[in-house]
Amino acid sequence: MARSRLWEVLSDLVDTAMGRKKADLVLRGGNLVNVFAGEVLEGLDVAVSGDRIALVGDASRAVGPETVVVDVSGSYLAPGFVDAHVHVESSMVTLTQFARAVLPRGTTAAFIDPHEIANVLGERGVRLMLEEARDLPLKAYVAVPSCVPASSPDLETSGASLGPAEVAEMLGWEGVAALGEVMNYPGVLAADPGVLEKVAAALRAGKVVEGHYLGDLGAGLQAYAAAGISSCHESTTAEEGLAKLRAGMYLMVREGSAWRDLSEVIRVVTELGVDPRRVVLVSDDRHPGDLLSQGHVDHLLRRAVEEGVDPIRAIQMVTLNPAEHFRVDGDIGAVAPGRIADVVVLPDLRGFRPSLVVADGRVVAREGRLLEDLRPPEYPAWARDTVRLPRGPEPGDFRIPSPVEEGPVRLHVVGVVEASALTRHLVLEAEASGGEVRPDPERDLAAAAVIERHGRGGGMGLGFVTGFGFSRGAVASTVAHDSHNLVVVGYDPADMAAAAGAVAEVGGGQAVVDSGRVLARVALPIAGLMSDRPVEEVAREAERLEEAWRSLGCSLVSPFMTLSLLALSVIPELRVTDRGVVDAVNFRPIPAVEPA
Ligand code: FE
Ligand code: FE
Ligand code: FE
Repeated sequence: MARSRLWEVLSDLVDTAMGRKKADLVLRGGNLVNVFAGEVLEGLDVAVSGDRIALVGDASRAVGPETVVVDVSGSYLAPGFVDAHVHVESSMVTLTQFARAVLPRGTTAAFIDPHEIANVLGERGVRLMLEEARDLPLKAYVAVPSCVPASSPDLETSGASLGPAEVAEMLGWEGVAALGEVMNYPGVLAADPGVLEKVAAALRAGKVVEGHYLGDLGAGLQAYAAAGISSCHESTTAEEGLAKLRAGMYLMVREGSAWRDLSEVIRVVTELGVDPRRVVLVSDDRHPGDLLSQGHVDHLLRRAVEEGVDPIRAIQMVTLNPAEHFRVDGDIGAVAPGRIADVVVLPDLRGFRPSLVVADGRVVAREGRLLEDLRPPEYPAWARDTVRLPRGPEPGDFRIPSPVEEGPVRLHVVGVVEASALTRHLVLEAEASGGEVRPDPERDLAAAAVIERHGRGGGMGLGFVTGFGFSRGAVASTVAHDSHNLVVVGYDPADMAAAAGAVAEVGGGQAVVDSGRVLARVALPIAGLMSDRPVEEVAREAERLEEAWRSLGCSLVSPFMTLSLLALSVIPELRVTDRGVVDAVNFRPIPAVEPA
């Protein structure tokens, strides 16, 4: 079911538009959202030949006895929605299951950056995603991960690494659209040859280079843009967003499950009133339950319109704008002649709930239900055997040693922030006793451990975290951006060991333990990141998992998403990795416990 290339079907499209050949599908009499002119045109037909659009207008001459005609009068016709920046692994399901969840919501294309699976499985992991994408009605364009590992091996241990040579080779793979987010912005600003070599390879191959920038908005941002990096999704304020737009970058406004930046950043459009042609809405990371209950790009559209964005502008932000950014606007991003027939039929321009979704010229979903059966591929054994610890975790492993036997000490504590990827670097006083510092539920001060799980020695880093709000038990996860080591947070060393063991024994996943009992668990055997089961089941289990953590007192909106960011050493301010506590502002290790 290979998709056509425009040059292969020119005569088909011309003949169908002229009425000499009959269309396969005609959507009749809709109100067309024309994203080029930014207008709605009433009472137009869309004629489809094969997987592409031949004509928009009056299709009566292209209707023959075999043509499937769907009356869409009274409804709007818009281009299929595009998520320009998403890590599918965060939805804890396979790409096929992700497609099942999002196609009925109107998403027909996604630019996926598989840097999570790449950190575990390297090149093979990226290829696995590419191959899975091939037969799906969801167009998954792949961005080759640029920062695997995300930071230096002194700060954390990943399961794989992709050097400039590998990246250059992968950029030539069929289906690759871009170099993935260049998170190592300090490396770019320092003109680190290893980093710039990857960027240069992408530019040379004619690919777009995706950004991830959190540095200063002066010379730093200019240098970053000068390096050919042309988008960024990390803005958390309108001012940052505006600076990136002005520097010629696409401003990707993010509304993910654990990071909700839209209401603030969209002010660039709603309050500062700048030209929105380079503004794009993205999800970045989406929890499976949120995908099913709130939606995907349709949710981004609703949120943007709620914040005051004109609906037509909002649609441009998830169709034409991202298509132009990735230079695939000849294929996607518009309902127009020559484009692939990815069309959503919308009853109105507020709810953005498609009554019909056409992808590759086929009606794939109706009233929120997928009409096709998408079967996930078989995953090879090597993709399922990725939690490799030298031995079972023991309670003693989770005791946090102090440099002073008894008395006052100073702790460098990670403060997690609700609904944000950022953390705070807190310095708290504590008392050592018996050569260790114990977590303290009274102060919401939990122990945090990260165990290397890729079969590279099983080293372990220990520290403290505050902000989860629970007071007993332990939680564990092999989803821990971006190296995806085994992260454990808790109070009782025995519970921490049990939680780590509970996820390790099923090949990876997430678990909640209290008093030695596993209260809930989600198995994520593919790379320790994804389940191979239906998205509905995974969403339900993930919901039970969150409920279990809430029963221990945790009050965050998306606690496992926040937990999974605890080890993310590329975003400020403080993290715990398998190498210990890491200062993510100055990119250096620091002690968890110091003499006071
Ligand atoms: Fe990012
Ligand atoms: Fe991202
Ligand atoms: Fe990540």
